[in-house]
Amino acid sequence: MDKQANSYDLLILGAGPAGLTAAIYGGRANLRVLVCEEKLSGGEITSTERLDNYPGFPEGVNGLEFGQLLEQQALRFGAVLAGAFIEKAELHGEWKKVTTTAGVFQARTVIIATGTGPRSLGVPGEELLRGRGISFCATCDGPFFRGKTVAVIGGGDAAVEEALYLTRFASRVLLVHRRDRLRAVAYLQEKLLRHPGVTVLWDTVVKGFKGENKLEAVQLQNVKDNSSTEVPVDGAFLYVGRIPNTAFLNGGVETDTAGYIITNEEMETSLPGVYAAGDVRRKFLRQVVTAAADGAIAAMMAVRYLQ
Ligand code: NAP
Repeated sequence: MDKQANSYDLLILGAGPAGLTAAIYGGRANLRVLVCEEKLSGGEITSTERLDNYPGFPEGVNGLEFGQLLEQQALRFGAVLAGAFIEKAELHGEWKKVTTTAGVFQARTVIIATGTGPRSLGVPGEELLRGRGISFCATCDGPFFRGKTVAVIGGGDAAVEEALYLTRFASRVLLVHRRDRLRAVAYLQEKLLRHPGVTVLWDTVVKGFKGENKLEAVQLQNVKDNSSTEVPVDGAFLYVGRIPNTAFLNGGVETDTAGYIITNEEMETSLPGVYAAGDVRRKFLRQVVTAAADGAIAAMMAVRYLQ
């Protein structure tokens, strides 16, 4: 693709379940659709070993495989995929312009479906040891920790699900959670709490990570009695929540204080012809099924806008 301005009916930013569902609906409505995605089709779900709660897959489905299926379906309806990092989006006015590493694209409608990225803890040693024992992706890095001890930080669905996954490899999984109750859904909590390979360290926060060239220990503090400990670990997997991928918008679209895009039920943002879908928008339930639903609504709103 050259660096010319290429025109489409609909530009979709992000190829997760929201973006690719929007591409399917847009394509079926005969729109000329371009999807910009820097990483793999499927978005964050590609780093999940098993997507367990998407309707229609009674045994679950591998996240990577699910992403590929979505991509195939979007391509079948004529969507064009650009492997591109989004540098800038100018979304005011009739023609919206998006500058990416694969060129400049324009369209009268845009769907922002850029999702979220992992939140960091911001403690000493974290930056230095990232990729040297500290990971944000159990599916990608779990197999490196066969027979080793790993800590998983967090108490939400992601932390619990990935801690359970890591028991396949690690001989010992420590789940470090800052409170005395998990946030994860009951089904996952029960599975975790009866798993013999997992020890939960309640009311515990991470104060730092230690290691010369690779992670060697995690420094912990109990928030109830303030006692500190240093626990030797080979790996640490951080699942302490997510932050929305909206920095590239440069404040051009209305967001809440956490950066999530504010929409109405029709996925309309503060700008005409610009919609947001999936985890990137302010919403109650961030799941693949709700992301897909958002994508369908956003695409049909784009169709209506163009008419
Ligand atoms: P989340 O639900 O926001 O949970 C984040 C966890 O990290 C919470 O337990 C939180 O503790 C903890 N935390 C946050 N900041 C921390 C800090 N500075 N230090 C220590 N702990 C900290 O995030 P998530 O688990 O990544 O899930 C994100 C979204 O994806 C959720 O809507 C979730 O339901 C969804 N998801 C769904 C599935 C599934 O359905 N199978 C799987 C994965 C993710 P507190 O509990 O004390 O706040």
